[in-house]
Amino acid sequence: MTAAPLVKIAPEMPATKPSLAGLTRDRLKLALAAAGVPEKQLRMRVGQLWSWIYVRGVTSFDDMTDVSKDLRRQLADVYALDRPEIVSEQISVDGTRKWLLRLAKRSHEARPPEIETVYIPESDRGTLCISSQVGCTLNCSFCHTGTQRLVRNLEAEEIVGQIMLARDRIGDWPGAKGPDDDRLLPNAERKITNVVLMGMGEPLYNFDNVKAAMDVAADGDGLSLSKRRITLSTSGVVPEIPRWGEEADTMLAISLHATNDALRDELVPINKKYPIAELMEACRNYPGLSNARRITFEYVMLKGVNDSLAEARALVKLLSGIPAKINLIPFNPWPGTRYECSDWETIERFADVVNRAGYASPVRTPRGRDILAACGQLRSESQRLSAKDRNIPASP
Ligand code: SAH
Ligand code: SF4
Repeated sequence: MTAAPLVKIAPEMPATKPSLAGLTRDRLKLALAAAGVPEKQLRMRVGQLWSWIYVRGVTSFDDMTDVSKDLRRQLADVYALDRPEIVSEQISVDGTRKWLLRLAKRSHEARPPEIETVYIPESDRGTLCISSQVGCTLNCSFCHTGTQRLVRNLEAEEIVGQIMLARDRIGDWPGAKGPDDDRLLPNAERKITNVVLMGMGEPLYNFDNVKAAMDVAADGDGLSLSKRRITLSTSGVVPEIPRWGEEADTMLAISLHATNDALRDELVPINKKYPIAELMEACRNYPGLSNARRITFEYVMLKGVNDSLAEARALVKLLSGIPAKINLIPFNPWPGTRYECSDWETIERFADVVNRAGYASPVRTPRGRDILAACGQLRSESQRLSAKDRNIPASP
């Protein structure tokens, strides 16, 4: 594949007013109160703005036609409806889109942090892969994000903001004009049907903000994504798994990648803290688990490391009794990695064993490879480039 052109959209932009886009109901209420909306009107105003922001996706207070002109002006004086700023947008030949986004800088940060969001269209659905942290504190040995230096939790609005921005860019609001480049968008009424927390970061290490964000995403009077179409992927933060199931109630994916503790300790080091047996126990007890609501087990195919037929059989055995789906992920190599992706025949033979055990078409087709949009490559290059390029000291 030839690489798609890199579109520079907003190389540097000055800080602006705080945005109301992405806020939870509580935060929106506080923001309106701070702008002078009287207490007795707050509920009604929150309801109005909620609908304009999350159902219509408006980006200007002027569009809020049932809000008085005075209030619109009052709000516009102090707030914006901005999304995270786009540093670059890339579109793959297969229609996959990747955005490098810049977040607002906090006072202690040397520069604004950057994250990545990826949109993967298929004929009947569109999946948005969103980030929950800048970088990741865990160091899975095959993952590029884990090598990133700068780490902080995203705020709920920064997580919701990724969904809003993607809907802007692919024209996924009611009545919106489609994008100029509408290559391979799904043939469905909504272009973003699924959200997966499989971008940068470990979402269960940012539990409260991710939970608040998914509540906004699933709000029936707003973005209205079904919780059955939201999947949280975790490397295995065992104590938070039951809590997530009870409080957030989304689908769950587990980054398993190995069937014995010795190997998993090496690949997914959090395994030393929460070994496989404890992880499986948490999965068996995941609230709402049934054949209709299975857990997805992700298994990255690493050549000569975890791809033997004995391991395929061990995988099937390990998952027996758990309503499960298996996703075999071809490893995405990155510069400097010591791993290689398994050969295609090896993946097929591994998949045969898994298929024969009753798991359907488990290999995840690589998408967006020409724009490095696949899992594990989400590590904003600018984090490394910027120190040199922008003349900023390297250490935070
Ligand atoms: N931190 C969470 C979610 C983000 S990673 C987690 O680990 O589950 C999303 C998925 O991408 C995980 O299954 C992760 O193991 C996988 N992944 C990471 N690096 C990869 C790579 N280089 N190739 C293929 N998959 C990778
Ligand atoms: Fe973090 Fe997930 Fe990457 Fe592991 S695989 S380093 S948990 S983002």
